[in-house]
Amino acid sequence: MYLKRLEIYGFKSFANKIEMNFEEGVTAVVGPNGSGKSNISDAIKWVLGEQSVKSLRGSKMEDVIFSGTSSKKPLSIAEVSLTLDNSSQILPVAYEEVTITRRMYRSGESEYYLNKSSCRLKDIRELFMDTGIGKEGYSVIGQGKIDEILSSKSEDRRQLFEEAAGIVKYKHRKHEAQKKLDNTKDNLTRLTDILQELE
Ligand code: ATP
Repeated sequence: MYLKRLEIYGFKSFANKIEMNFEEGVTAVVGPNGSGKSNISDAIKWVLGEQSVKSLRGSKMEDVIFSGTSSKKPLSIAEVSLTLDNSSQILPVAYEEVTITRRMYRSGESEYYLNKSSCRLKDIRELFMDTGIGKEGYSVIGQGKIDEILSSKSEDRRQLFEEAAGIVKYKHRKHEAQKKLDNTKDNLTRLTDILQELE
């Protein structure tokens, strides 16, 4: 599985729609200071569901939308699509290519799409669980991330190993099942109380 394509429109400094196609192997992005290199990795983090404004180097989420220049008006939406080659079927879906899209309006509302069908952020998170790609994954190693991993508490570091070992989705499912069990237990207790009152 590898990153095949990135399409950006209205995200940070990218006022016009751009499409970047990547080959397998290493790609280096070079350019002068302030030309938008880091905005590309921000776009990748953002489309994967990043909710932390700080991690995207902004002060509010709206900052990701192109804010205009002396020659270009600000835009009202930002949209990023990321396409992965899934011919190895690492992602558990029957598509050879998987495209995820995030669109955000100035109102703050975000929409997510999986191969052009509307979906929830939860669906995207679940799709990438245990692949290292998601928000909690290790596919985007930013400045200072290695230091953070080395100096973090062992429980925090464990999360990284769990993602690599492929057990996060089982822990997530266990947690969801536990929540349902707790709700059912509460409902049963309530029902027993009502029955006792009626007797
Ligand atoms: P360096 O090599 O110095 O790290 P870089 O190539 O990584 O630079 P970026 O940090 O990706 O550059 O891009 C910074 C540029 O993006 C700045 O010129 C900034 O004005 C512009 N920019 C950031 N957010 C927006 C936005 N919402 N609208 C328009 N331009 C933006």
